[in-house]
Amino acid sequence: MNYKIVNIDSSENVNASVLIIYTGGTFGMAADEQGALKPFNFGNVVDKVPELKSLGLRIRVISFPKPIDSSNVTPDDWKDIAYIIEENYEKYDGFVVLHGTDTMAYSASALSFMLQGLNKPVIFTGAQIPIGSTRSDARENLITALEIASTKIDGEPRICEVCIYFNFVLLRANRSQKVNSSTFSAFHSENYPPLAESGIIIEYNEGALMPCHIHKLVIQNKMDTNVAILKLFPGIDISVVKAILGIKNLRGVVMETFGSGNTMTERWFIDELRSAIKSGLIIVNISQCIGGTVSHGKYATSVPLSEAGVLSGGDMTTEAATTKLMLLLGEEKSPEKVKEKIVIPMNGEMDE
Ligand code: ASP
Repeated sequence: MNYKIVNIDSSENVNASVLIIYTGGTFGMAADEQGALKPFNFGNVVDKVPELKSLGLRIRVISFPKPIDSSNVTPDDWKDIAYIIEENYEKYDGFVVLHGTDTMAYSASALSFMLQGLNKPVIFTGAQIPIGSTRSDARENLITALEIASTKIDGEPRICEVCIYFNFVLLRANRSQKVNSSTFSAFHSENYPPLAESGIIIEYNEGALMPCHIHKLVIQNKMDTNVAILKLFPGIDISVVKAILGIKNLRGVVMETFGSGNTMTERWFIDELRSAIKSGLIIVNISQCIGGTVSHGKYATSVPLSEAGVLSGGDMTTEAATTKLMLLLGEEKSPEKVKEKIVIPMNGEMDE
């Protein structure tokens, strides 16, 4: 790909180096003739954040050739991000991915599974208001994300995982969800505590961080997109359930259920699930609630699910479950192996 590169020459006292991968998003958008926000090039961003030159960092920006609104992101973009990190892994202390907020939780979750053996910080961030606007949150998000991505203790990285930094909190990527499109507090992680909070100082929640080990980075980039999300609602018609479960070549479904993983128990519904599973489909139960966990058997309304072969996704987010399923289906030919692996933690995305 034809990436654009911008080097930001910092002050003489360079303490660390960070690679910024600019994919687009509101962060660098400007209004077009109709007043709609569209991404623009990173070159314009540097002038708006002169502080980048005095952070004591060596910064290089690799920009997607055509920055995108993250609503257009695809697994190919995730592969590109993973590839850029792999190619530059030894050259930088940390990585900041500038990304639109709409699908950031999907992309960051995907990368948390793709970058196996990661031993450096990869911090996703973005903005709710473009950097060119007076009240923009872009500057703070970027500067603190850079600080986190470059922080070391005794020469070792402080963070060894993929995170989202937004509005003064650092969250584990595969535990995060976009929860608000109009306040600055766009991301939340209900089932896992913040990894750090940024105030006058950045306070790290040491007990919550992924331990750093010396691993070799291995990129897993085969993502199988033959998956679907089936969101249940009272009154859902058999034709809708049949249509989704009957999609040609479909291999996996994230089924969004009620409360602690409950569903209607009508005969037709359980029969549809059972026969789809018998013909090889993998169905993972994820709750529509943002907090808590799926617990098969807690209520009588989830007992038939286990009997039909539905798997419990525990306390995973939909974003983590969907991207983990894509990755496992890409990695494993045997559905049995995928079934074994989807229900156990891979990289901090669910409780044991
Ligand atoms: N539509 C934008 C995007 O996701 C929203 C944002 O960046 O906040 O690219």
